[in-house]
Amino acid sequence: EDEDLDVLESGESSEDAQSQAALPVLAVIGRPNVGKSTLVNRVLGHREAVVQDVPGVTRDRVMYPAEWAGRNFTLIDTGGWELDVAGMAASVAKQAEIAVELADAVMFVVDATVGPTDTDEQVVRLLRRSGKPVVLVANKVDSSMQEADATTLWSLGLGQPWPVSALHGRGSGDVLDEAIRVLPEVSAVADRMPEGGPRRVALVGRPNVGKSSLLNKLAGNERVVVDEVAGTTRDPVDELIELDGKPWWFVDTAGIRRRVHQTSGADYYASLRTRAALEKAEVGVVLVDASVPMTEQDTRVIQQVIDTGRALVIAYNKWDILDEDRRPYLEREIEMDLVQVQWAPRVNLSARTGWHTNRLSKALDTALESWDTRIPTGRLNAFLGELTAGHPHPVRGGRQPRILFATQASNRPPRFVIFATGFIEAGYRRFIENRLRENFGFTGSPIEISVRVRE
Ligand code: GDP
Ligand code: GDP
Repeated sequence: EDEDLDVLESGESSEDAQSQAALPVLAVIGRPNVGKSTLVNRVLGHREAVVQDVPGVTRDRVMYPAEWAGRNFTLIDTGGWELDVAGMAASVAKQAEIAVELADAVMFVVDATVGPTDTDEQVVRLLRRSGKPVVLVANKVDSSMQEADATTLWSLGLGQPWPVSALHGRGSGDVLDEAIRVLPEVSAVADRMPEGGPRRVALVGRPNVGKSSLLNKLAGNERVVVDEVAGTTRDPVDELIELDGKPWWFVDTAGIRRRVHQTSGADYYASLRTRAALEKAEVGVVLVDASVPMTEQDTRVIQQVIDTGRALVIAYNKWDILDEDRRPYLEREIEMDLVQVQWAPRVNLSARTGWHTNRLSKALDTALESWDTRIPTGRLNAFLGELTAGHPHPVRGGRQPRILFATQASNRPPRFVIFATGFIEAGYRRFIENRLRENFGFTGSPIEISVRVRE
């Protein structure tokens, strides 16, 4: 049994993450190929592994703990974000906008051998508006002969260009000293920043429930800024949207805006798209149209969220067009419709008027907190011991399986493995699940229980 434990409890400590949270944040931005990754690697001293903490989800780690001259800070590497589906200018502007949002200060990398480009100038306008400190890196200045190249970057109006060769290390110490100098002691952004970067939300639901309307409402002015800067109306695949002062990735929003028309097979493609969005996300918001009875298609989407093991929030939309006298009935109707997923937080809202849309972020936080939960083995077994003593498994055919031991094998979502002396029937498993939920919460997260039989 001890062997199993070692294998199963491959948990990571969250202490590092916590101490990292309040540190000032420095973002490295710039056009592709200017040398951002090379510079980041130089700061970190090595390439950190991409953390893949959810099977099937490549959640690229975007923030790294870094240190320079005895100061600790968090470094954001925007190079790996791959926002490049909109035109390059659009994605660079988007990246810059996000970086400004997430960081206390920005290192803006420009290729000195190329000189300032139009895209660079668009980014500068955005950076200026933000008011955040910017350190201008004139990269690829590999020798003193090339230092003249750097001086052309004065024209960007960001002050002194720092000549650097990220590749060879030339000047990188000086520019880091400068970055440390402009970084605040205490971060103004870190406390609202989840470790590893903003978390990923999939907004899903059958056609016409109001996904696109809700997205526009939530995105607010954010998108306007991007379009204005980039001179393009094309959407990136994922969008960073701020809810209650905290940024979230809304995944595959292009898929929501590019509407699937009512042709044959539309359902099938909608379901594939939902599936793909959920795979990328950590939490699914299932939008339901409250003005009409719930349909099987709504239930299927909810089931998709559970089947992909994502955290779940249910949002009832179009609350603005409900008759006053229908509301009490509707509440009861909804409770019956959702009897299988009573554990999911529910928000009633209106995408049209914006009513209660500010309640989404709290529901998302709750659901993800449950999804992340790890219950220490000791606590889990104390709980199960009491539970099985009070309500032992029923005797079947003269035999009574006993629960020996349990452990939480993983989180996101919480998965439990129970070791027992015989087959545990479905009803008893449900009983355990319900009691786990009563005792530990798990609001908004599916939980999985598997049983291993030991003689
Ligand atoms: P990113 O797309 O901005 O992250 O750029 P990379 O860090 O991937 O660099 C793009 C290319 O420029 C690579 O071939 C690097 O080796 C090269 N490069 C980066 N920094 C320097 C530099 O300081 N000098 C020279 N000559 N090449 C560099
Ligand atoms: P999607 O297919 O899920 O993206 O749904 P849309 O956002 O395109 O909305 C479908 C229809 O419902 C449109 O005519 C919207 O104007 C309407 N709609 C969306 N949200 C609301 C709402 O909160 N209240 C009302 N009354 N109508 C809404």
